[in-house]
Amino acid sequence: MADLGPVRFLTVHCAATPEGRAVSAAEISRWDREKFGQVSYHWVIELNGKAVRTLGEHEKGAHVGKANTGNIGICYVGGVDASGKPKDTRTAAQKKQLATLIRTYQARYPGIVVRGHRDWPGVAKACPSFDVAAWIAAGMPS
Ligand SMILES: [Zn+2]
Repeated sequence: MADLGPVRFLTVHCAATPEGRAVSAAEISRWDREKFGQVSYHWVIELNGKAVRTLGEHEKGAHVGKANTGNIGICYVGGVDASGKPKDTRTAAQKKQLATLIRTYQARYPGIVVRGHRDWPGVAKACPSFDVAAWIAAGMPS
């Protein structure tokens, strides 16, 4: 597994799984291995708010095109409605856990840039189906 390098970014993703479907972190990692040959994210937050570490702290992920160096990836389960349309489906428990992880990384790596997948240049996706900057500016409410 490639080395992550100095941490400079944290990118939030959704799994693009339907609202309310209890997909496990292990299942998401299995899909990623099949699709990309490796686990994509450092953390997956399940519907009940449980954060599962899916990559080691210094392992390079595969979650933002060619911008994975120094980039921590956090994915929440959900992100689309029953018809597959992008929707912020985060449960209160997931929001709480995401806020905790973001605050932990901000404390550990001062100056870390936190953004959504769609905020990276050239990304034509809705992921993670909510405005990360606006949510952080609002104090990361659950
Ligand atoms: Zn994404």
